[in-house]
Amino acid sequence: MADSRGIMSTAYCYDPVEQEHTLYGHPENRERLKGTMELLEQQGLLARMTLVEATPVSMERLHRVHSSQYVDSVRRLAERGGGHLDPDTYVASRSYEAALMSAGGLVNLVAAVLQGEAVCGFNLMRPPGHHALTGRGMGFCIFNNVAIAAHYALAEGGVERVLIVDFDVHHGNGTQDTFWRDPSVLFFSTHQYPYYPGTGDWREIGAGEGKGTICNVPLRPGVGNEGYTRIFDELLWPLAERFRPQLILVSAGYDAHWQDPLAGMRLSLSGYAYLAQTLKAMADELCSGRLVFTLEGGYHLQALAYAVLNTLRVLLGDLTPEQGEVMDPLGPCLYGETPVDTLLLQLKGVHRLV
Ligand SMILES: [Zn+2]
Repeated sequence: MADSRGIMSTAYCYDPVEQEHTLYGHPENRERLKGTMELLEQQGLLARMTLVEATPVSMERLHRVHSSQYVDSVRRLAERGGGHLDPDTYVASRSYEAALMSAGGLVNLVAAVLQGEAVCGFNLMRPPGHHALTGRGMGFCIFNNVAIAAHYALAEGGVERVLIVDFDVHHGNGTQDTFWRDPSVLFFSTHQYPYYPGTGDWREIGAGEGKGTICNVPLRPGVGNEGYTRIFDELLWPLAERFRPQLILVSAGYDAHWQDPLAGMRLSLSGYAYLAQTLKAMADELCSGRLVFTLEGGYHLQALAYAVLNTLRVLLGDLTPEQGEVMDPLGPCLYGETPVDTLLLQLKGVHRLV
């Protein structure tokens, strides 16, 4: 959609350097975005969005989240030809550049949104970021893109409150750690639990001035569309209304899809589309539509590609609750769902929503 000045309201960031961060046989490899970008191109979506250029994130912005010692260690490992930060997390020879661009792309998208050049956007870059800690990469993540972007918005973008919604199936421990004591960020995470990385209990709610601005929704395996819908409607909405964010960032992981090989949740593509619609409605109501997604996990390639496609159709206004159909070649999960009633009660209690 273009406005009267010809500016398209939805932006995306992509740079082919992400293809150079890859390891054969690893689930977080270059094939993930390859198929996704092909589908977006084939469906004519890229032509309807503003391409925001990725540039390497500046050291000043990177160091708001990561120690210089850690950043240097990643750079040196890549210069030596690569290796592993932990058994799960590889660094290839061009991974340092890719990681700087993945974070920098998201910062540039957020800048475009805050400067009114776009309303919303999606950072289609790798590596993902939400597990990365101040001094340590882990869980396929090198630099914490969403945390770096939130810090940028707060320090340079004139924003006082950022909501980060993380619906990746794994807990965003790095993001939680970064904002544990920070009242200017509300971090809301749905994740399978107990599961990798082991954090994200519902009693983890932040500390000091940030107490209450972390909301963890730890899910037993088997929660699907109905459970996620209730969690977003009954928990995320009132928390967001109370917090009044000026920007919403989304750690968009599509590994809670029922066909994902790494996890055991039962969201379908329709369920994921509903999450995107809810977030769009929330951003429209609370912060003039300012909503920026960044890619985290999602390891079933077709589920990932279609989930991103449907999300962008939501951002573009093609797929609303009233019009458009979710594109879903994989269909719904045919097994029953694990209920979330008890968990919702616990969370409403600890976050004083009752
Ligand atoms: Zn994940």
